[in-house]
Amino acid sequence: MSRTVLMLPGDGIGPEIVAEAEKVLNRVNEKFSLDLHFESALVGGAAIDETDSPLPDETLSKAEKADAIVLGAVGGPKWDSLPMAKRPEKGLLGLRSNLELFANLRPAILYPQLASASSLKPEVVSGLDIMIVRELTGGIYFGQPRGVRNLEHGERQGYNTYAYTESEIRRIGRVAFETAQQRGKKLCSVDKANVLEVTVMWREIMEDLKREYPDVELSHMYVDNAAMQLVRAPKQFDVIVTGNMFGDILSDEAAMLTGSIGMLPSASLNSQKQGMYEPCHGSAPDIAGKGIANPLATILSAAMMLRYSLEEEEAALAIEAAVSEVLDQGLRTADIMSEGATRVSTREMGDAVLNAL
Ligand code: NAD
Repeated sequence: MSRTVLMLPGDGIGPEIVAEAEKVLNRVNEKFSLDLHFESALVGGAAIDETDSPLPDETLSKAEKADAIVLGAVGGPKWDSLPMAKRPEKGLLGLRSNLELFANLRPAILYPQLASASSLKPEVVSGLDIMIVRELTGGIYFGQPRGVRNLEHGERQGYNTYAYTESEIRRIGRVAFETAQQRGKKLCSVDKANVLEVTVMWREIMEDLKREYPDVELSHMYVDNAAMQLVRAPKQFDVIVTGNMFGDILSDEAAMLTGSIGMLPSASLNSQKQGMYEPCHGSAPDIAGKGIANPLATILSAAMMLRYSLEEEEAALAIEAAVSEVLDQGLRTADIMSEGATRVSTREMGDAVLNAL
């Protein structure tokens, strides 16, 4: 069955890293007879320059039709003075909302070869492999009413609303339970049920869902404790599920346990498992065009796409094994360089992954 993958290089280092991911995808496409068909389109600043819009209609229409999307990154100083609604980031947010990408999956994997890059002791983080499932389109970031109002006595008050419907919680819960089933079968739901009613309901719904997934061990943790446990003993976690704001904070915390932003992939999925896959980092304008960006986060995002949207586990595992092999070979881009390793360019790193495949 032929499937379409839309490549959205975007800005800054985006085109350089997406080119390497495309090379790798082309190779697994042949090797595993995946019948993938690739298209590309403009998004972000590159789209503003050509069409005056960060998300042209043509891009959105291609995205809606695609089975999955690989995105590089958007943004850069060139567009920073534009009004908020015309900024490159609007392209990304527009894709997330139009495609209803409510489930954000962010793994924090520490390759043993890079253990010294973490700020934690190697024995605490070596072998770390956590998946954070963050609700992406609801919660306090979207709740109404919101704003800043003038109170009767003349003081201003800022306010936001933390609200989740039962169905919003159930759908992210299902993604999390299913993700746990594909991994270590342990799910920790993070909430603040000792203070916030919305998360009391969140906890009840997770407990209710557990009956559908008897093979998954469910636990609950308050968010303050989860933040502490992530730096104390992060390897206790397999899959973590949480709401939008807690997930925003915890996923950055977990990501940083691994030391390098250039290694971290992510997936954002909707209920049809259509997804957008992108590295966690931005467009790195400081190194754009120099050929030194680390393409591995984008290559690993392509592996996640094969696993979660295209259900090609064997091809996903092959890419992940190839990445591990090039690290074993001592090849490093500048951001993960260490003593005794061999420094390589963006393209050389992509070529090394191809060879390992
Ligand atoms: P950034 O992630 O682009 O860069 C932070 C630092 O990490 C920089 O020193 C950069 O050189 C380095 N870095 C990032 N990715 C790297 C890679 N693959 N290899 C080697 N080094 C890498 O964050 P920033 O500097 O805060 O933002 C730059 C631009 O990116 C801004 O316009 C911002 O809005 C945008 N941004 C976009 C996204 C996205 O598209 N999803 C996410 C974050 C930031």
